[in-house]
Amino acid sequence: MAGSGYVGRFAPSPTGPLHAGSLVTALASWLDARAHAGRWLLRIEDVDTPRTVAGADHTILQQLGACGLHPDAPPVWQSQRTALYQAALQQLVAQGLAYVCTCSRKDIEITLAAQGHTRTRHAELVYPGNCRLGPLHPLARAQAWRLRTDVLLAPQGQSPGGSAHITWQDRRLGLQTQDVAQAVGDFVLQRADGCWTYQLAVVVDDAAQGISHVVRGQDLADNTARQIWLQRCLGLGLTTPQYLHTPLVLGADGAKLSKQNGARPLDLSNPLQALNAAAAVLGWPAQTGTVTEALAAWTAMVAAHGGSPVAR
Ligand SMILES: [Zn+2]
Repeated sequence: MAGSGYVGRFAPSPTGPLHAGSLVTALASWLDARAHAGRWLLRIEDVDTPRTVAGADHTILQQLGACGLHPDAPPVWQSQRTALYQAALQQLVAQGLAYVCTCSRKDIEITLAAQGHTRTRHAELVYPGNCRLGPLHPLARAQAWRLRTDVLLAPQGQSPGGSAHITWQDRRLGLQTQDVAQAVGDFVLQRADGCWTYQLAVVVDDAAQGISHVVRGQDLADNTARQIWLQRCLGLGLTTPQYLHTPLVLGADGAKLSKQNGARPLDLSNPLQALNAAAAVLGWPAQTGTVTEALAAWTAMVAAHGGSPVAR
């Protein structure tokens, strides 16, 4: 493979088989990598062990293979990489950037109410920083390890430093900005049950795998500012990938297509039909012929479209 420096990835959670929505992201990231003469890696994001479904990982690999989407290296499983996540957390603790939190949800609600914040039902609570200077309940069991968002980072190497008010350029959505301290507060890196969060695992793995371009669903766009902040805290600001968030496939209820609103597993008896449906979401015309021919045709279209895997 030509050394373009591009390294992309598809990183499904094995909570079930691929469906029409997840194939859109898989196809978009594969086309982006191919159109840039880059490498395409596969990462099974199975850190949220209570949600992981046994065997779903192998089903996903089989489905991708049937659609002609073959990775350029053997897949990695996040569940086998916990030593890396532990090392990252230890580094952040040593830097004074991560701390143990003993707050219950009730504690957080009480603090927020005392600060005059009213909360909408089901909304994520912005963490008010109760345990920043020491655990609220010193003898209680840790409820979470959290990352500080209220500090100013000194520049490290070519890592820019600065505050958790993050601005980045999304290749599809344009200029994005989020003040992480205000929007989320000190966010969780490891949960009470020992599970590593999406934020920590993704940042550590994207850096370890040299990922230069992240192409993923638009529902994940909101995580990007937290991940860029975490990269900077870990001194990885130089390796911040370029982001592109793809259009979502919506279910009948108008929410993102998922198992919960009726997404069926991909029908592998006709992979081209599944690929044509995914390509249509990205704005590319349906193809006839073999899967290989269809993928080659779309790759050429993406390259001709300035390298964006989304035509609209
Ligand atoms: Zn706390």
